[in-house]
Amino acid sequence: MSQLLFRNFRLLDPQVGELQGGFELLVEGDRIRDLSAQPIKAPGADAIDCGQRVLMPGLIDAHVHVVLSEVFLPRLEAMPLTLMTAHAAALMRGMLDRGFTTVRDTGGADWGLKEAADKGLLPGPRLFIAGKAIGPTGGHSDGRRRTDYGMRCHCCNALSFAMGVADGVSEVRKAVREEMRQGCDQVKLMMSGGVASPYDPLESLQLSMGEVEAAVEEAHAFGRYVCAHAYTPEAIQRAARAGVRTIEHGNLIDDASAAMMAEKGMYLIANLVTYYEMRERAAEFGMNADMLAKNELVIEGGLRSLEICKRHGVKVAYGTDLLGQLQQAQSREFLLRAEVLSPIEIIRAATTIGAEVVRMEGRLGCIQPDAYADLLLVDGDPLQDLGLLQDQGRHLAAIVKAGRFYKNRL
Ligand SMILES: [Zn+2]
Repeated sequence: MSQLLFRNFRLLDPQVGELQGGFELLVEGDRIRDLSAQPIKAPGADAIDCGQRVLMPGLIDAHVHVVLSEVFLPRLEAMPLTLMTAHAAALMRGMLDRGFTTVRDTGGADWGLKEAADKGLLPGPRLFIAGKAIGPTGGHSDGRRRTDYGMRCHCCNALSFAMGVADGVSEVRKAVREEMRQGCDQVKLMMSGGVASPYDPLESLQLSMGEVEAAVEEAHAFGRYVCAHAYTPEAIQRAARAGVRTIEHGNLIDDASAAMMAEKGMYLIANLVTYYEMRERAAEFGMNADMLAKNELVIEGGLRSLEICKRHGVKVAYGTDLLGQLQQAQSREFLLRAEVLSPIEIIRAATTIGAEVVRMEGRLGCIQPDAYADLLLVDGDPLQDLGLLQDQGRHLAAIVKAGRFYKNRL
């Protein structure tokens, strides 16, 4: 098995929180074999002198949509699945360029894209997929126009491909089972209104308690979990009561709903950047005024949600949720969070906490024996300057995914 021996680096272990010198790291195949403060003997390994750069785990974005390649989602109605896949390939490559070696797709990506990335057919991060995002008729995942009646088949265009509609306990059960049959890692439910859907009010409560409980029961029975799109305290509390594991967005969270999440050990996947990017640039990509008005209702809650969660001990993962042309702003989330959090807190959100969210604690988001060898070599210390994680990966001297160099300019 091929071996790589990394020497002369400063180690950024997110659990430690400050740089450590003097270590060597041995990678064998797709895994980390050894991390040692003593010189490692590996005569057959390719030795890499890191020139005192900072070695850190690859980043994890816990909320992306690799198939939503348009900001104004209705445009996906006119996109065939072949073109959708080509766009997804470009978006996934961009994520890997920025140092995201793992992403959790919360609606759209299927097992085909996941397998293509795993097999190296297209360069991209490892994917944890939800398949279609499931919601009720008229909810955030119902992308039909008001003039449309009846359902479209899921293979006719990119919008139908990413979204599922189910009504009633038995339809929801079936939809959840179908996504699990198709290999989903997590089940995505829509439990409140959303910004990028034209007709559902933001504060609307979507899916009944019985429907959500059925989804949770099915997911648990299959060894999966449910993540829920939710903005308001009421939507968050309904999700918590029904056994949902992660809240996506959660901008309008309050003390009571945060306390409930903490008590149940739930995670928040915040994604402030998408709201700022939509405010600044979504109109030029066709997003309409109704959607942008909903955006204004949630944008101010973003930073406050981080502070509330910190106060209550709710773990918050790094997420972005950027649509289409805005996805290049994926790393800006680091800078936005820096207004209320320290760099190490934000880096943990994008490494160790992200790994917990995808249930890969100790195998992703960390540098230790037996973990996957997903590594970044940074041209400086991100704990001093989060700007080093900006600029589409320009300050990353090397990117290793599963023990292979995706990028190496040493
Ligand atoms: Zn999303």
